[in-house]
Amino acid sequence: MTDTPPAPLRQLHADIDARVGSIRDDRPDWLCGKGCDGCCRQLADVPQLTEAEWQLLRTGLALLPPARLAEIARDTAALADQTARPITCPMLDRQTGACPVYAQRPVACRTYGFYAQRDKGLFCRDIETRVADGTLADVVWGNHDAIDQRLAGLGPRRPLTEWFERWQNPPAGPDDAPPAPAEASPA
Ligand code: SF4
Repeated sequence: MTDTPPAPLRQLHADIDARVGSIRDDRPDWLCGKGCDGCCRQLADVPQLTEAEWQLLRTGLALLPPARLAEIARDTAALADQTARPITCPMLDRQTGACPVYAQRPVACRTYGFYAQRDKGLFCRDIETRVADGTLADVVWGNHDAIDQRLAGLGPRRPLTEWFERWQNPPAGPDDAPPAPAEASPA
């Protein structure tokens, strides 16, 4: 397992970081930031991830304390049967509002709030309100269609629930195996 994503995903992250940085520089009062978990609690559907995104996310998940990982696994499995939308991300720490896999989070989490997809109305509600009242009228959003095209070049996407299931119950091969439980250190 590696914490280094393949070059195309690294480049995508870098390009997104540059766009986000430029919006933040122009708008120091931008709403997205530490302490806001609105988008994590309002996901339109189960996240869809490319394999490269999942492999990165998996490295972050594997570093979590086993009890926390077990909670996330339970909440992710429950999503497979949940029909109500929107959903809360199963990885979100609901007490603190923090993302426990922030450094390894998927592309959609990196773009949300800074990129727009015109036909899908991709805005968080708070930002949408600011756009509607003109406060954010002159912002140059990132183009999420272009991000989707680049993600498509990384291969097919699967729902988070499916990646998790394959990790926990691998169909075959050692690469999909969940992390071995930590051995107790000698007294
Ligand atoms: S992975 Fe992290 S940033 Fe993305 S929705 Fe879940 S909690 Fe939020």
